[in-house]
Amino acid sequence: MDDKRGILIVFSGPSGCGKDTVLKILKENNDNIKVSISMTTREVREEEVDGRDYYFVSEEYFVKKIADGEMLEYAQYADHYYGTPKAPVDEMLREGIDVVLEIDVQGAEKIRKIYPDAVTVFLMPPSMKALEDRLRNRGTEDEETLMHRLFIAEQEIRRANEFQYIVINDNLAEAVFDFETVVRAEKMKYSRNKNIISEVINNV
Ligand code: 5GP
Repeated sequence: MDDKRGILIVFSGPSGCGKDTVLKILKENNDNIKVSISMTTREVREEEVDGRDYYFVSEEYFVKKIADGEMLEYAQYADHYYGTPKAPVDEMLREGIDVVLEIDVQGAEKIRKIYPDAVTVFLMPPSMKALEDRLRNRGTEDEETLMHRLFIAEQEIRRANEFQYIVINDNLAEAVFDFETVVRAEKMKYSRNKNIISEVINNV
């Protein structure tokens, strides 16, 4: 493993569990962490901005990007395509920037195979009831979509055992702190610091 390369962090968790909010604070606190901007075919929500929250594209465009080999991974979630453009992620990692992929469990499975040293974190709601309340309060989905998202949420939670770290989002500040702690600990792993011994010994 190259000591200077950034860490790739996969961040999953059910819809409505607060991933966006955790990441917003994380980015504000940490200049060296960037969140990859995904591409999606779903409709833009009121508060969202194209090119900041997602690249909102047509299905035709998305399918072409897959065919051209430009997607690192992609998945279909609730009848829409979501995927990670490859080039910006590779470039940031090369530059030593830590990159977070906020993706679903299907995407996480693919990334684990391509990048075995990726760090995987699952953001867990304190309960299904809390998740439902949060989704309802967000008010961005109609009842049918909301029920569908809750159904997917339960399937995703059942797969949390595939992740290395579980962060419970009961208290936002604590969840952010826990996430930062994971990144700090990962940075201290010997496997990411293989040059340290010779650097210390030779630097008299
Ligand atoms: P939402 O529509 O709520 O923004 O996202 C729905 C789900 O798609 C979330 O679980 C989110 O993490 C996931 N997602 C967002 N971007 C990507 C992506 O690039 N790839 C994959 N596999 N999932 C994504």
